[in-house]
Amino acid sequence: MKSKIGVSTGIFLNFYEDEEINRRIAHIARWDVDQVEILFNRQFTLDIPITKENKEFLRRKEVTLHAPFFHNEGYEKFIITRVEIEKLVKIAKDLNAKHIIVHGDILEDMDILNDYDVPFVIENIKPKLSEEFSLQNIKSIFEKYPKLKLAFDAGHAKDLSKEEIEKYLKELDNTEEVHFAIKDFKAFLKGEETDLYYLKDYCKSIVIESRLERLGKIPLIITKLREIFS
Ligand SMILES: [Zn+2]
Repeated sequence: MKSKIGVSTGIFLNFYEDEEINRRIAHIARWDVDQVEILFNRQFTLDIPITKENKEFLRRKEVTLHAPFFHNEGYEKFIITRVEIEKLVKIAKDLNAKHIIVHGDILEDMDILNDYDVPFVIENIKPKLSEEFSLQNIKSIFEKYPKLKLAFDAGHAKDLSKEEIEKYLKELDNTEEVHFAIKDFKAFLKGEETDLYYLKDYCKSIVIESRLERLGKIPLIITKLREIFS
């Protein structure tokens, strides 16, 4: 399967402030990506207007949105309500976004998602943080909400073996995208065979996410991902 290569604005956490969403997007515009994930990590970032230049860039790409998980007062979890979902849906329509990613474990009520005609994707969560939304158990959520799809976060399934992960992904058969943290690319850049390879069959798109210490390697990672996933 030929997969799209995406980058999340979340990788710039060490470089740009949370309010600098537009600088983050403009930075991604320098790279050869198919997909851009706009991470609204804190509530207030949903109110920042996206510049005209960035909108022009984004309209040429596949855009996905990631719902906030931190409140405005700092880096602590908060409960997502209809207020945030409404804002996300408005942005999604404006940018013609493909879907909105939500952490189901912090959503006030999963039923809210049924009220909008925008596709929603939920992420598997670390079992420590949520048993219900862990890869092992998330199937029951999809049974209840069949329109939802999975964004498989490899970093949130570190406790599982390759074989177990494959078993679950096969069983679910609704993986919309696969997310990798930059840590996962270390061995990969050295040319070692890593977990990336077996995920080939499940990747409609592969998204580089989580904060980076350095940005210099990103173009190389994108080139190498293209070799594997296309
Ligand atoms: Zn996430």
